[in-house]
Amino acid sequence: MAPRPDLGPPPYLGYTASRTDRAAALRGDEAALDKFARDPRAGFYLIGGELVLLKVAGESFDPLFSLAEAQAMPGARETVFLGLIDQAPRFGLLLDPAAVEPLKARGDLKITDLRSIAVHGLVANEHLPPLAEAKALFGWHARHRFCPNCGAPTNPVDAGWRRDCPSCRVQHFPRTDPVAIMLPIAGDRCVLGRSPRFAPTMYSCLAGFIEPGETIEEAVRREVLEEVGIACGRVRYFASQPWPFPMSLMIGCHCEALTDKIVVDRSELEDARWFDREELALMLLRQHPQGLTATVPHAIAHHIIRRYVEDGADVLR
Ligand SMILES: [Zn+2]
Repeated sequence: MAPRPDLGPPPYLGYTASRTDRAAALRGDEAALDKFARDPRAGFYLIGGELVLLKVAGESFDPLFSLAEAQAMPGARETVFLGLIDQAPRFGLLLDPAAVEPLKARGDLKITDLRSIAVHGLVANEHLPPLAEAKALFGWHARHRFCPNCGAPTNPVDAGWRRDCPSCRVQHFPRTDPVAIMLPIAGDRCVLGRSPRFAPTMYSCLAGFIEPGETIEEAVRREVLEEVGIACGRVRYFASQPWPFPMSLMIGCHCEALTDKIVVDRSELEDARWFDREELALMLLRQHPQGLTATVPHAIAHHIIRRYVEDGADVLR
């Protein structure tokens, strides 16, 4: 096939290209945070569990609420300081999910999950990184209300960036779970799989959590061997993506497939098979004769596949 097929302009990699200055040094400065909250430029992202609140603004949606609008919402729990965007303070406010459900009846609000917001482009892309930051942080808070060390209730401090245990004095910091996501390649062919959870026509990269004591490269080789029975050699890092479901970091790689025979792990995958670059190009362009697709454009898998279609096995150099 042509060395570099024309796939059109590259889509936005969801939740990346953050413009936020996290201003971490100010997280413990109560006076500065109070001033930020009262700044007329301040904006609050409102999240209740998996749901994000958006204001209906004509044909579009606005995810930023003023301090007064945020304070008028029921079920307020933690507030976190996300940082500054062009000097404008940005906060996240966690609402009790049970208090959010009845708000769905309000015509001036659109309440939906973050995946849908990204897939359907409901807000400007610049809002996705701070929304991911807030959602991942709140996901961590929700799971750390009690000390993992001694079981006592913990308290949020440092503008939501730490939880302290008053009993055993241990400090707990927000965590991010690394996930390796990879494309095994042999010349002009590569392996994609599909989970039973996927839309029936969709194939994607293989992926799995990186385990304690493992390098990224070792995790890539282990996951490919476990899921499709293929041994891999070289591993090349491609890019990463925050994935706030609930708080992962996707680490995208291309890897060199050394064997050919696929043995599908049916507990993980419904199917896996070899695809050549021409077929992949049709999937990315949504012109595949059987209607097969290669994941949604905002997900890193789409970008890993796209780079391989453009550059071929050179991605392993
Ligand atoms: Zn404790």
